[in-house]
Amino acid sequence: MARILISGGAGFIGSHLCDKFIQDGHEVIAVDNLITGSIENIEHLFGHPNFSFIKYDVTNYTHIPGHLDYVLHFASPASPIDYLKHPIHTLKVGSLGTHKMLGLAKEKGACFLLASTSEVYGDPLVHPQPEDYWGNVNPIGIRGVYDEAKRFAEAMTMAYHRYHKLDTRIARIFNTFGPRMRIDDGRAIPTFITQALQNEQVTVFGDGTQTRSICYIDDLVEGIFKLLFSNYAEPVNLGNPEEISIIDLALEIIELCNSSSKIVFKDLPEDDPKVRQPDITKAREILGWEPKVSRSQGLLSTIEYFRNKLLIS
Ligand code: UDP
Repeated sequence: MARILISGGAGFIGSHLCDKFIQDGHEVIAVDNLITGSIENIEHLFGHPNFSFIKYDVTNYTHIPGHLDYVLHFASPASPIDYLKHPIHTLKVGSLGTHKMLGLAKEKGACFLLASTSEVYGDPLVHPQPEDYWGNVNPIGIRGVYDEAKRFAEAMTMAYHRYHKLDTRIARIFNTFGPRMRIDDGRAIPTFITQALQNEQVTVFGDGTQTRSICYIDDLVEGIFKLLFSNYAEPVNLGNPEEISIIDLALEIIELCNSSSKIVFKDLPEDDPKVRQPDITKAREILGWEPKVSRSQGLLSTIEYFRNKLLIS
């Protein structure tokens, strides 16, 4: 049985990781300051003997009594409207928070995993994006607070790996979706689903030709596990390489919801990446991982989750 700290443990991805580690018989300490995470995501784990929760901001010095085997740093606002709303927190948790979590892992002799992002590639000029592409990021743009914080976080993680010989992993996570995304996080999938379920206009930004490649949460969690238990310290892309334009995604969601919604076009936000698709050759070869859940299967489970959410809210 391993003892694991997950920062951002009450968030969308963090809470699914808590579930998986608990299911596998490990002990989990979830830490979250709840600015974008939610207690509802983990309330079913309260009272479990192997689970504990600490409401805390990991940009501060963090002391955890006892040993730790793994530190997973998932704390960060992660949707464009969240990091626009919390620009300084986003920069701090990616920089100071990563430093504190690395320091904790070093103190405990634990393995550290960083939740990095496809945003390190910015608005990419290479397509699909392999890990050795250095990216095209506007450091002073509105998304720069997230992109640059995560780029700094990767640099810091590699420095701890090289200088302190810390055992580290870097997951570059591409667009992921599933139950427990926030209804109001502003991202395309929760927004389109809630609009379609209520037969409201579906808001497509720009002309909708920009692309994304979306991965279902269960596949991502399996990828994180495989990376964690590998011994590979360089960054690994985790995402579903099946690419779709945003307009086609909106139409697919409208159809899967049996909705009468129509599409309405809105302004494209500043620095919105035009394309995004992971090259997952490394994940396939090094981890033996690739996504298994089809887009429609994943969307149907997510739609079910939001249908229930809308009923009770
Ligand atoms: N988007 C959209 N309508 C919305 C929300 C998002 O057309 O109501 C677009 C957004 O401009 C982007 C894509 O959908 O091109 C994916 O956006 P999301 O916020 O989900 O994630 P991103 O990949 O941009 O971080």
